[in-house]
Amino acid sequence: MSDVIIIGNGPAGISASLYTKRAGLTTTVIGKDYGALQKTDQIDNYYGFSETITGTELLENGLQQAKRLGVELVSAEVLGLDYDTQFTVKTSQGDFSAAGLVLATGAQRTAPRIPGLAEYEGKGVSYCAVCDSYFYRGKDVAVLGCCDYALHEAMELLPLVNSVTIVTNGETPGVAIPSDIQVITTPIQEFVGEDTINRVLFQDGSQISVAGIFIAVGVAGSSDLARKIGAQTQGNKIMVDDTMATNIPGFYAAGDCTGGMLQIAKAVYEGAQAGTQLVKYLRKQKKA
Ligand SMILES: Cc1cc2nc3c(=O)[nH]c(=O)nc-3n(C[C@H](O)[C@H](O)[C@H](O)COP(=O)(O)OP(=O)(O)OC[C@H]3O[C@@H](n4cnc5c(N)ncnc54)[C@H](O)[C@@H]3O)c2cc1C
Repeated sequence: MSDVIIIGNGPAGISASLYTKRAGLTTTVIGKDYGALQKTDQIDNYYGFSETITGTELLENGLQQAKRLGVELVSAEVLGLDYDTQFTVKTSQGDFSAAGLVLATGAQRTAPRIPGLAEYEGKGVSYCAVCDSYFYRGKDVAVLGCCDYALHEAMELLPLVNSVTIVTNGETPGVAIPSDIQVITTPIQEFVGEDTINRVLFQDGSQISVAGIFIAVGVAGSSDLARKIGAQTQGNKIMVDDTMATNIPGFYAAGDCTGGMLQIAKAVYEGAQAGTQLVKYLRKQKKA
């Protein structure tokens, strides 16, 4: 167990880790890749570089700096979150726990464009198995996705629902799927229903009946993760106050995932603020 876990190893997450670690708190940063910076060839508007720097160089500098200061860096995909007296972060490399948490997972990915998906959001289309599985007790549901995150959501649903089908929309499953979960790889034509969703139509003309469909495409995005422990979100944005605190005690968010200006300078500032405020919070609670 660490004092602090930070999810995301981009500018916001690493910046937060510098403040928690240098305040003497054991700090683990979990990240799955290089985030938005891996798409950035030229950065000329961030302070302190006389020459243009690439996103990869900037990110690797940050990782090395954190490592030098003793931050534990874990390469893993975060699949889920739990909170009771402490935070438990479920990842592709096992579970990690901590007294305080910073979410810095960048801007949310876009949802797949499948006819009917937007129309049935909140009417059978859900983005959070742990939040909504109760409503589907004894019913047939589907999970849209192909990989670790989709399997994680399917496993959350399995004990409560009648059946779970993973629909990959043409993707090849990237994980071994247990035999009690059905898999359909045929591309999806449309989600249909009346007041609520009731069927998935496939491009080959086949269909399945479902009471709900859980979206778990790609990896868990910021608001997917935040919602799992009841943090307030607005669209894809995580709601925070001036101290970067969410409505859940000990849970802070920073960087692109809080919306506003999507820039490195803002991510670094918010990470610093989240790290500093989390240290204050944990000391006050005598948890670190
Ligand atoms: C093409 C492009 C060009 C840009 N150019 C500039 C520029 O010139 N100047 C500028 O200031 N800004 C620029 N930006 C914006 C800048 O990259 C972002 O504002 C900044 O990277 C945000 O930092 P962040 O830490 O909030 O998120 P990110 O840098 O996106 O980091 C998010 C981190 O979260 C991790 N993560 C996400 N989900 C999970 C999960 N489920 N499990 C584990 N880890 C997860 C990722 O691996 C990553 O480490 C550009 C962005 C793009 C896309």
